[in-house]
Amino acid sequence: MAGKKLTCLECGQLNRIPEDRLGPDAKCGTCGAALIRSKAIEVDPAILAKAARNDDVPLVVDFWAPWCGPCKMMAPEFSKAASALEGQARLVKLNTEDHQAAGTKYNIRGIPTMVAFRGGKEAKRQSGAMREAQIVAWVKS
Ligand SMILES: [Zn+2]
Repeated sequence: MAGKKLTCLECGQLNRIPEDRLGPDAKCGTCGAALIRSKAIEVDPAILAKAARNDDVPLVVDFWAPWCGPCKMMAPEFSKAASALEGQARLVKLNTEDHQAAGTKYNIRGIPTMVAFRGGKEAKRQSGAMREAQIVAWVKS
């Protein structure tokens, strides 16, 4: 079957979307949530693991925590980057304070750290706060 696999970031259902319908109207077949967003949304480790493993659209995760100053500075930039990259990559956030085991699982040594997943595995990672243009360039490179 043709189409791109995309994990719903709300309920975790794996959807298959025809490439020509991969836009803001693409909805999860189970819960109806939009699959392509123009903002970065918070995910839990189970959904992150599923999306990282299955998605055909690149997934970029910002590992952050509420106590981290640089993370807070980067948050609006990451959000703008999510909008700029709408349809090309999905940008999500994982709170490493709420989910400490996930930080260990993904070997996060310092935050903020961005990890890009592509084709079922980690493609690259980058530590330190970045501005929107730098994030967009990093994701596209
Ligand atoms: Zn769903």
